[in-house]
Amino acid sequence: MAVKQSAPSPQVSPARRRRITILGVTIDDLTEGEVIAQADALIAAGGPHQLVTVNPEFVIEAQANPTFRAALADADIATADGFGLILAARYLGMPLRGRVTGVELTRQLAGLCADRGYRMFLLGAAPGVAAEAAAALQAMYPGLIIAGTFAGSPQERHEPFLRQLIAAARPDVLLVAYGHPQQDLWIARNQPALQVPLAIGVGGTFDYLSGRVPRAPAPIRRIGLEWAYRLARQPSRWRRIMNAVPRFAWRVIAQGSRASRQPNRHPEV
Ligand code: UDP
Repeated sequence: MAVKQSAPSPQVSPARRRRITILGVTIDDLTEGEVIAQADALIAAGGPHQLVTVNPEFVIEAQANPTFRAALADADIATADGFGLILAARYLGMPLRGRVTGVELTRQLAGLCADRGYRMFLLGAAPGVAAEAAAALQAMYPGLIIAGTFAGSPQERHEPFLRQLIAAARPDVLLVAYGHPQQDLWIARNQPALQVPLAIGVGGTFDYLSGRVPRAPAPIRRIGLEWAYRLARQPSRWRRIMNAVPRFAWRVIAQGSRASRQPNRHPEV
């Protein structure tokens, strides 16, 4: 169902906006509807803006990668895309109201774009996948204008060509699927020249939308075990996830116990 002109949840005013910090990474406490309303306002305001979809792997990467940490800190919106973040926020006594996954966000944004006449560009993933994802979104929202699709590459030497391609397509929303941290760094590097109103790193979203990688069934997603399902389907992810998830959990627990030894202090993580 398309997002109606009046449908998005009320926009969250900057004064009422709640942000939390987990291990030095800021995350907005926004529901899916609020993210779409914020996105709508940012697009209407004109570019450039960046949205990041944070998960525990992002947080671990940010600890060791100052450029990535800076890109996350500078983002206009940071959503919690990862059940681990929801659990960590709850454990640290700063619960988030909801999780906003890249796939759902992309679907909802496509609805917003279709309603408003905003143009969407899909960059990244394996050759052909972005076009298949665009076709799937257009099947859901027939009015959706696809400004362009291209696989390309996150290598810096390809940036001048990609900037030309994207600038000529005049998108309002640019989705970049190069995986983290490359996609978010790509956006941070290129937005000053591109000035796209809203650019978002969306990870494996095109693979899911195109149907090339099946998503976990809804009950598995609801109990937060999508990562285990993905691991079973894509064993190549194993090392990456096993590297990030236990370290994330351990550091959150360590941070929580430090904060609890200082009862008067808000957990500064
Ligand atoms: N990808 C790409 N070029 C690269 C590296 C990755 O197009 O050089 C794409 C890959 O095909 C996939 C996405 O980036 O569609 C990464 O998905 P993943 O689920 O690994 O992202 P993350 O977990 O980092 O969000």
